[in-house]
Amino acid sequence: MAEFDIDLFVVGGGSGGVRAARIAANHGARVMIAEEYRMGGTCVIRGCVPKKLLVYASHIHHEIEDAAGFGWTIPQATFDWPTLIANKDKEIARLEAAYTANVEKAGARVLKTRAEFVDANTLRLASGETVRSKYVLIATGGAPNHGVAIPGIEHVISSNEVFHLPSLPRRILIQGGGYIALEFACIFAGFGSDVTVVYRGENVLRGFDEDVRAHVRSEMEKEGITILTGCTVNRVDKHGKDFTSHLSNGSSIASDQVMFAIGRHPNVANLGLEKAGVAINPENGGIAVDRFSRTSVPNIYAIGDVTHRVNLTPVAIREGHAFADTVFGKRQVQVDHADIPTAVFCQPEVGTVGLTETQARAQFSHVDIYKANFRPMKATLSGRDTSVLMKLIVDATTDRVVGCHIVGDGAAEMVQVLGIAVKMKATKADFDATMALHPTAAEELVTMRTPTARHVHVAAE
Ligand SMILES: Cc1cc2nc3c(=O)[nH]c(=O)nc-3n(C[C@H](O)[C@H](O)[C@H](O)COP(=O)(O)OP(=O)(O)OC[C@H]3O[C@@H](n4cnc5c(N)ncnc54)[C@H](O)[C@@H]3O)c2cc1C
Repeated sequence: MAEFDIDLFVVGGGSGGVRAARIAANHGARVMIAEEYRMGGTCVIRGCVPKKLLVYASHIHHEIEDAAGFGWTIPQATFDWPTLIANKDKEIARLEAAYTANVEKAGARVLKTRAEFVDANTLRLASGETVRSKYVLIATGGAPNHGVAIPGIEHVISSNEVFHLPSLPRRILIQGGGYIALEFACIFAGFGSDVTVVYRGENVLRGFDEDVRAHVRSEMEKEGITILTGCTVNRVDKHGKDFTSHLSNGSSIASDQVMFAIGRHPNVANLGLEKAGVAINPENGGIAVDRFSRTSVPNIYAIGDVTHRVNLTPVAIREGHAFADTVFGKRQVQVDHADIPTAVFCQPEVGTVGLTETQARAQFSHVDIYKANFRPMKATLSGRDTSVLMKLIVDATTDRVVGCHIVGDGAAEMVQVLGIAVKMKATKADFDATMALHPTAAEELVTMRTPTARHVHVAAE
């Protein structure tokens, strides 16, 4: 009898697991991939993709409002949430089927089941059946945090449930200050809901550039979103269909839904990791891995959100691909986690790559800041009260642009392309040498000539 049934068992059919299974099978490995919920994982089923569809839908409200200044008379528009959700679900089902088909086409076997370790080479399926594999890849992703068990926590929804609400909430309270909380705050505000954001910290978007944080907050407040910082939800009461959230600052807020988006944790529980000997990284609670995504057990690897490194879809995909090339493709590949472009799809959206001003000033002795805050051309006729923020951070010793931050429509698309320049170590002189493309908002990025601030950090003797 052969020692192993297969070469690779992938636990989790999300962004990272699917890519790894497909590429490993292409390299000739005998592969099985187990998914306990729906193929495609968080990104496709209840993350990036459905969220962006809701962002598009809600942004249409802005377009309708802006139309009058351009001469359009649009009859009172109405919006139907169940139609949007049904159309979104149809698209998600199509993608789920495509993910399954693509993995199977590559020759991997898809198992619609949960899998757990029995030992370092053996996985038990929900049916009780076991599979022995030479290598195992853990790609189980993450899940929303519930936070402390406050009274009434059972009434609170997370980003998992928000995609399936039967009706549009007229009023919603969202606790959290990260990207998921803000994106949903803007989605619901766009649909006309009355939105309150409650966040325990000083300002939203912790970890982002300070100017970005301030700008986003002010733009969201202009859209009528109430943002309460420095407080938390301590209790949620339900009366019929209504909820009252009691806050730590003594106030209470009535709403039709209460959503918490207070971070996510790696899916490591009940996987049998201890039976396999897989160690957890004590710093972040994710699976500990080296630069090749290898765990403490030589034949077991882990990629994506379960390692809690950079929790983004393209990162999970890149890590999955690198794993498959390294183990089955005779090509050692490490993923470079520096200068990852990232976006927040709030409205207006945020696009950012590289260092924040605070990080750059801690790292470099001479830092120049170029900053523009301007009214976008479209707002001149639409009359919308909005402004765009663009900020470049330059290591003044080498002239290298080490950070780009944009808040404004199209910011994510701009930053995807800017990410190439930053990755190539473009200098401010390279930006200056690039001809402006007129009339665009992005031309500001190559026409900011004078620093708005210069920081010189003299090292202590
Ligand atoms: C609301 C929301 C919005 C987001 N928006 C963005 C965005 O705009 N851009 C971006 O880049 N990222 C975004 N993300 C993050 C992105 O979705 C994740 O980084 C990405 O999905 C991680 O991929 P993964 O393969 O590591 O895990 P996942 O995609 O989470 O896949 C893990 C899979 O493993 C399965 N699983 C778990 N345990 C087992 C088991 N024992 N047996 C079998 N199957 C198991 C799960 O059911 C799941 O399907 C968002 C996330 C959320 C929640």
